[in-house]
Amino acid sequence: FVIPEFSQFTKHIEEIYHKCKPNSGGKVADYIPQLAKFDPNLWGVAVCSVDGQRFSIGDDKEHFCLQSVSKCLHYPIVLEDLTAEVVHRYVGREPSGQTFNYLHLNSQDRPHNPMLNSGALVLCALQKPEWPLADRCEYVQEKFKHTAGGEYIGFSNATFLSERETADKNYALGYYMNAHKAFPPNTNLMDTFELYFHTCSTETTCDAGSVMAATLANGGICPLTGEKVFSSQTVQHTLSLMLSCGLYDYSGQFAFHVGLPAKSGVSGAVLIVVPKVCGMMVWSPPLDDLGNSVRGMQFCKELVSLFDFHNYDLK
Ligand code: GLN
Repeated sequence: FVIPEFSQFTKHIEEIYHKCKPNSGGKVADYIPQLAKFDPNLWGVAVCSVDGQRFSIGDDKEHFCLQSVSKCLHYPIVLEDLTAEVVHRYVGREPSGQTFNYLHLNSQDRPHNPMLNSGALVLCALQKPEWPLADRCEYVQEKFKHTAGGEYIGFSNATFLSERETADKNYALGYYMNAHKAFPPNTNLMDTFELYFHTCSTETTCDAGSVMAATLANGGICPLTGEKVFSSQTVQHTLSLMLSCGLYDYSGQFAFHVGLPAKSGVSGAVLIVVPKVCGMMVWSPPLDDLGNSVRGMQFCKELVSLFDFHNYDLK
């Protein structure tokens, strides 16, 4: 086993879970009713090791939307289909230092990176553009399912409709990008938006999310099914960008304090990868000022204070 004393390890995870539970900081996202309705006390943690050992605690079976966490799962799908060379003609690899929906492109008129809304819109434009929209939505959903080893991947239609209804900033971004020729020629902008809202509205649980994270931790091979979902090169690119850009404009500080590739979303989900060891999904709706789950951030810091998981922990 990769984690020989698994029950010892999970005892510590359980302790960290309880340590973070009373933290009542932050505010639940309220730009759509489907997020605002979540109880701020919800708190779930799940772990899946790269050899398939499982542990979860708290609200680990509740359904929530991936929101921006989907970006770190959509990126490897598009990379596999098109190669990094093609994808990065349309999107950069630098942190932006700005909030996720800031109306801003880099000096080449490209989104700074694929972990931002602008970058994710490019991913949507690049993903099977010649297919009907329904098939494109189904395709990404199926890939997520394979990454999760067949565990729960759903779709919240109510979230999708609300996202679409309140997406002025995303529309502004998309049109601004279109004006700067940031999309491939012949991009159907409306379908691009719809696919973006669809991926954000994909539902999962902490349990299934930990398997997705573990597939990344395991170089693209799902620990439950043994399926090679992504090449190790694709996963290397994905983890690199998660480390530098995965936590909005907290990414630099997160890399400093935690030193692990991760991706957060406005639903309060945080997908965490401990390369070659395990994947984790933690979820708690209240967010800090930068949009990251308050309990999620505390969990990550506690985790690296107990274990030598920080990339540059050389002791
Ligand atoms: N649906 C949200 C948006 O596009 C996702 C953003 C996020 O999770 N940060 O604004």
